[in-house]
Amino acid sequence: MANHNHNLSELTEKLVYFFDLDGTIYLGNKLFEGVLDLIEILRNKKKKFYFLSNNSSKSTTDYLKKLNNFNLDVSRENIILSQHPTIDYLKKNNYKKIFLMGTQSLKEEFRQEGFDLTEEDPEILVLAFDQELTYDRLVKASYLLQKEDFPYIATHLDNRCPTEEGYIPDAGGIAALLYKATERSPRVFGKPNKEMLLFKLEQVGVSPEDAVMFGDRLYTDIIMGIKAGVTTCCVLSGEMTMDMINKSELKPDFIINGIWELLNEFK
Ligand SMILES: [Mg+2]
Repeated sequence: MANHNHNLSELTEKLVYFFDLDGTIYLGNKLFEGVLDLIEILRNKKKKFYFLSNNSSKSTTDYLKKLNNFNLDVSRENIILSQHPTIDYLKKNNYKKIFLMGTQSLKEEFRQEGFDLTEEDPEILVLAFDQELTYDRLVKASYLLQKEDFPYIATHLDNRCPTEEGYIPDAGGIAALLYKATERSPRVFGKPNKEMLLFKLEQVGVSPEDAVMFGDRLYTDIIMGIKAGVTTCCVLSGEMTMDMINKSELKPDFIINGIWELLNEFK
């Protein structure tokens, strides 16, 4: 059973802090209380901290702007988007020529990372949250997936994305459409896959037990943390309620009302 607020001070001894964004750091356009102070403390204590999102329709630069509009004063290195472990995998496996289903913003990020985005003779199909999808591109992707063992990966597979007016199809929705035509499913790198945390821990040389994941969703943030072997802390400021956690088989190591409760521990 989760250790509701006992030994919360243990969390101050971690070296790496991973934070989910929506529901954890902010809700829509409202930053939660205590976040600015907490980040300041982590910075002064020379801790490493990262903000995570699966939303690959936006580039790192887009997220940098969004976070700094809240006066968080962070840099690119503080942001982990689902395209980052994906790009890490592509580089480690020497993929160069890519058929990327993604926004112009994401394509720009891939080009800056040195990839050749092409429809002619690609080596792999990479599916992201492509909000500029056309039927023509779906047709081309379908043909590729019918070539035997053609490599196919996705930044993340959220089925739908919440907007102010309702849900819209996310990368998982697009993958479902391709599956109907080809019966192929991609390998995935974003939440809830542990690669999203492990590629960064490997880069900075910190072992999972010295890291903690904060998030508001059990079935993405918390399960990812458990699989990666990091300490997990569920915040009740987003999607999950105490009742939902009690009914779930998944138990985070810690449960707090919101990120602000951490401030007292650092004092
Ligand atoms: Mg969230």
